[in-house]
Amino acid sequence: MRTVLSGTAAARGMALGRARLVKPSMLQVDHRLLEQNEVEGEIERLHDAIESARVDLNEMRQKLHGALARDVGEFIDAHSLLLEDPELLRGLDEMIRKGRYRASAALKMQADRLGAVFEAMDDPYLRSRHEDIDQVIGRVMAALSRQSSSEERKLAARVGEILVADTIAPGDMAHLVGHGLLGIVAAGGSVYSHSAILARSLNLPMLVSTNDALSAIGDEDLVLVDAENGQVVIHPTAQDLSRYRKWQREAAQEGRRLATLAKQPTRTLDEVPIRLYANAENTSDVAQARAFGASGIGLYRTEFLFLRSKGLPGEEEQFEAYRDLILGMGGLPCTLRTLDLGADKADNAGLTLREEDNPALGVRGVRLSLRHPAVFNTQLRAILRAASYGPVRVLVPMVSHAQEMQSVRTMLAMCARDLREEGHEVEDALEVGAMIEVPAAAIGVHTLVDDSDFFAIGTNDLTQYVLAADRNNDALGSLYDPLQPALLRLIARVISVGRRTGKAVSLCGEMAGDPMFTPLLLALGLTDFSMHPGQMLEVRDRVGQLERARLRRLSPQLLRARSSQEVATLLEVFR
Ligand code: PEP
Ligand code: MG
Repeated sequence: MRTVLSGTAAARGMALGRARLVKPSMLQVDHRLLEQNEVEGEIERLHDAIESARVDLNEMRQKLHGALARDVGEFIDAHSLLLEDPELLRGLDEMIRKGRYRASAALKMQADRLGAVFEAMDDPYLRSRHEDIDQVIGRVMAALSRQSSSEERKLAARVGEILVADTIAPGDMAHLVGHGLLGIVAAGGSVYSHSAILARSLNLPMLVSTNDALSAIGDEDLVLVDAENGQVVIHPTAQDLSRYRKWQREAAQEGRRLATLAKQPTRTLDEVPIRLYANAENTSDVAQARAFGASGIGLYRTEFLFLRSKGLPGEEEQFEAYRDLILGMGGLPCTLRTLDLGADKADNAGLTLREEDNPALGVRGVRLSLRHPAVFNTQLRAILRAASYGPVRVLVPMVSHAQEMQSVRTMLAMCARDLREEGHEVEDALEVGAMIEVPAAAIGVHTLVDDSDFFAIGTNDLTQYVLAADRNNDALGSLYDPLQPALLRLIARVISVGRRTGKAVSLCGEMAGDPMFTPLLLALGLTDFSMHPGQMLEVRDRVGQLERARLRRLSPQLLRARSSQEVATLLEVFR
């Protein structure tokens, strides 16, 4: 019987195929305690399983070629690093030896403990890292279960299948795509996970948070993943299938049309030039940014580097990453955002946490950097050195007041002086800009003008702080609304202060990459957008259909609107 489940679209598109159901870890956790004489054998079993998981990952890495190797290699490396992470593995032997736990129970406890630590993090990217921990531990668990039951791994999709699982590791996804996987329905997961990022760059339709997927979908059931509408249809009807075929025809046509836009300039219907910058996190983003004609990198989230690295990345490692990004962009400007970790604190052993009651209102972004001058200096030195390879701007996250910008500038100047004394060629003055994501910075943007060369509006955070609605809290989804007039007033204010004072203003939150918001942002006066490169063609296309002058005339009404519904109604004609 036709059944429809709702999920959250993590990568758009549609796919039709047979379900390949993968239940979470086939291994039952065995809670019986060990006898003393079983302890050493169990530790050996655990070590063998970890080794076998490592070999799995290595083999997976070797098998990847071309673009997939580039896209996925980094994710697999991140998982391999996790397998060696002392924080992850620390204590497993102890738990077996002293606590007499079996390997599976020790792994489960460790996964739960680390899961809770990541869940408590404020940054959605960091929070989603708990999926990586689960996936890596799941791999070790699977290896343990193979030892005991010699059951083959079930992850061997055949051509034309839709994977239905709790979550999926990026490495597995890459492997399965090579074997003809068509789409993914995850019961858990988040749109910020590595897998979701990868699915978007592979154009693989993916739904996450599809509750009940594992119980409602049967192995081999025919399913239609409709990630355009956040649904999966089990046993689709003839009507569903014709909807799917229609989508296929339109998507193919649309793909051909959008591809022709890759090298086109971005202009509104009335010929106003608009700049589209890319938000980049890895090398494939850089390649895509170039391929789709980005004006530069508008946001490079350097915290990704800190998370991939084992412990703190040193100056050399950071320098090389920044330099490669800059070289990859071939002379286009690159905006490097300084470390924006949440309430967690980085140290040489990896990430250690500080307990904070309110991490979103805690020591994050520039607050954290200024409290750890040694860490910050290392980053600033690396940025300054990399800046000799191309145009670089420095972007400071979570700025609340001018004093923070002044401190960053002073530190940057001191680093430049030191580097020169050491014989490095250092650019005279890098542009330093403020992220506008704290309400005080938006309301008081005029107070930041003297100390900022440019502004980048971070609507992901600004929305949550203006509405006091946690960006990760599903229960507040309707409150976390980028159309809220209060938010629009702040965005418009920053853009207008920027224009009056000659400071460039870009917007790099998720709404910049959503064509649904393009008319609104043009109406508010935005000319510089920064988004995931995969969204650039659609936004360029949308910009080309819109008349900026007409939208600008709508701005006063939009700002006077009393509700987001009223804003939506005013923009209706531009749909
Ligand atoms: C934002 O807050 O809008 C932003 C771009 O930064 P992040 O999503 O990394 O917090
Ligand atoms: Mg932010």
